[in-house]
Amino acid sequence: MRVIRTVATVRRACARFRDAGESIALVPTMGALHAGHLALVRLAKRRCDRVVVSIFVNPAQFAPNEDFGSYPRAWDADLAALSALAVDLIWAPGVRDMYPEGFATRIEPAGPAKVGLEDAFRPHFFGGVTTVVAKLLLQVAPDIALFGEKDYQQLKVVTAMAKDLDIPVKIVGLPTVREKDGLAMSSRNAYLSASERAAAPTLHRVLKDCASHIKTGRPLPDALAVSRAQIERAGFVLDYLEARHADTLAPVMSRKDGPVRLLVAARLGRTRLIDNIGV
Ligand code: AMP
Repeated sequence: MRVIRTVATVRRACARFRDAGESIALVPTMGALHAGHLALVRLAKRRCDRVVVSIFVNPAQFAPNEDFGSYPRAWDADLAALSALAVDLIWAPGVRDMYPEGFATRIEPAGPAKVGLEDAFRPHFFGGVTTVVAKLLLQVAPDIALFGEKDYQQLKVVTAMAKDLDIPVKIVGLPTVREKDGLAMSSRNAYLSASERAAAPTLHRVLKDCASHIKTGRPLPDALAVSRAQIERAGFVLDYLEARHADTLAPVMSRKDGPVRLLVAARLGRTRLIDNIGV
């Protein structure tokens, strides 16, 4: 397993794979790896000959008041976990390699990036994500790139970006990997205090109950109102709980409007958690 630090080197290494007729999978991450990330890597290994994992905490997707400085970093543990999975390359650029002096371009996604979910609370986020993911896709030129459904809106935004910019890559989604008690795995779960960690699985439990009530015919607005109250009663500050069309993320009023996805974001103390579920 090689750790690569410069754009020129990652390009050369990936070109060698392609010249040998080998397919390449890219798994973009911000490090502090958990079982969700490792499931993406395992799927990548099943689908392609070579696996590149990028580790880059991308300053462009954090607002000044967010947690870029304190975002968990766990380089040694990440390296050990990826080496146990026999990943081929770790692409770990520094901020100045990704954004050199004079860098002045930013993608401005619309469509699923402008539907009033994450974008309403983190307006800078998807511009930062699509800019860095486009760069990663152009640097590595993978056949497939894998993303988690945990960040459901992000998966839709990245898929649209690659299609709109004619980047020849297949974006592959992976269902959310959860702790035993249902909490979606996230690097940010490390921020939770013991009492917050005990309350955190409520989010998934409420989503599941909401989905089953909708399936058994409860009107969407009623089911959502009950669930929002349950989340707030459990001590969360709710950013949103919404029912959206699973493909377009457009608002839906009933199951007749198409496949429904429930998406939630809520804060427990200083930790912001997101989750989603299909109905
Ligand atoms: P991050 O390092 O948090 O930026 O995440 C890197 C990739 O891992 C993204 O595609 C995430 O959607 C994915 N991911 C994060 N948590 C999970 C999870 N619990 N299950 C599946 N994928 C995940």
